[in-house]
Amino acid sequence: MKDETKCLHSGYKPENGGPGVMPIYQSTTFRFNSTQEIAAVFDDPTKAHIYSRFTNPTVDCVEKKIADLEGGVAAMCTTSGQAASLISILNLASAGDRVLSTSAIYGGTVNLFAVTMKKFGITVDFIDVDATEEEIQKMITPKTKAIFGETLTNPSLQILDIEKFANIAHKNGIPLIIDNTFATPILCKPIEFGADIVIHSTTKYMDGHALQVGGVIVDSGKFNYANGNFPDFTEPDESYHGTIYVKDYPNCPYIIKARAQLMRDFGCYPSGMSGFLLNLGLETLALRMERYCENGLKLAKFFENHPKIESINYPNLENDKYYKLAQKYLPKGTSGVMSITIKGGKQEAIKFMDKLKLASKEVHVADIRTCVLHPASATHRQLTDEQLINCGINPGMVRVSVGLENIEDIIKDFEQALS
Ligand SMILES: *Cc1c(COP(=O)(O)O)cnc(C)c1O
Repeated sequence: MKDETKCLHSGYKPENGGPGVMPIYQSTTFRFNSTQEIAAVFDDPTKAHIYSRFTNPTVDCVEKKIADLEGGVAAMCTTSGQAASLISILNLASAGDRVLSTSAIYGGTVNLFAVTMKKFGITVDFIDVDATEEEIQKMITPKTKAIFGETLTNPSLQILDIEKFANIAHKNGIPLIIDNTFATPILCKPIEFGADIVIHSTTKYMDGHALQVGGVIVDSGKFNYANGNFPDFTEPDESYHGTIYVKDYPNCPYIIKARAQLMRDFGCYPSGMSGFLLNLGLETLALRMERYCENGLKLAKFFENHPKIESINYPNLENDKYYKLAQKYLPKGTSGVMSITIKGGKQEAIKFMDKLKLASKEVHVADIRTCVLHPASATHRQLTDEQLINCGINPGMVRVSVGLENIEDIIKDFEQALS
């Protein structure tokens, strides 16, 4: 099936005479006829649903749909994108280990990696998105357990050369984790370029309507965790009846381990209702992404030619530094997100934002409605000036997320605010 069809038909499969629309299983627990049957599910968590702290039939359908869209073998939803980032790393690294991440990533992820992970004893090293293979290789130590990056960086809109990072990761026997939030599987499928694990903040385009915060982790099923670097996958898990993940679940040991160990212990799992709402967003994802890209390009061209705009980052513009990589990794378009720098710096940027009438000022992005944000005073506020620059952010930068309103109305609003 093609993406448009998967958006509607993957995941939930109605049974004969069953509901045509995916039902909401809003239940914490599931009943069994005998103690023995419950014991069997504890032995093999893939057999049935037992408790909604780590599995739920509604969420399960959504996980199958997202895995299918990304070209992965299994997925696990989380209650936020932050939870997905956290678990994607903790499933591979423990105290004493290291992770290599590109520095141009979402501000919340920078903080999680640089501050909170450090308290767990995990050191995250940062490298420039545009680093050469030699520079990347130099940053990898025998303790490095994964490489992490974003397809389309938030908010600097740089494009990661996924193949380059995947090749180096694989040469070192470690997986590549890609945060594919802005691209969505409609615009880019990182697994096709060698990524081993794909994560999302589903809060953004996937949900699409600003209804709820959520996340997901997708397992490509391709990485060999039995290569000697990941003893937690090859030795019996004493906390789970001696399960050996690579042996007992050879198709998707990564996601089973994440669920059986980490989701069981952390419990950041969405409810049936949340799964239902996310699925509703996913049903129109392919259609919406097409229009975001179309509106995005039109608005970007307007900004590019406007005398009050100092610079714009939108990789689908021919003059953009990342245009060539965009053509390779996101040939259908680069979403509706762009960042602009207003002439006159921070004060002018804030003045411009406050004059907007249609575009809303809010801490959100990739929404159905056009919205703007000033990263230096909001999402990236906790970063030092040096971290800001490493993330590709200057103080006068405004992140613009174009919505699905008529593009003429959107441009008119930006035009009057700039005037
Ligand atoms: C928003 C965002 C996150 C964090 O997701 P939440 O759902 O807000 O926890 C992670 N990565 C990227 C690229 C994001 O845009």
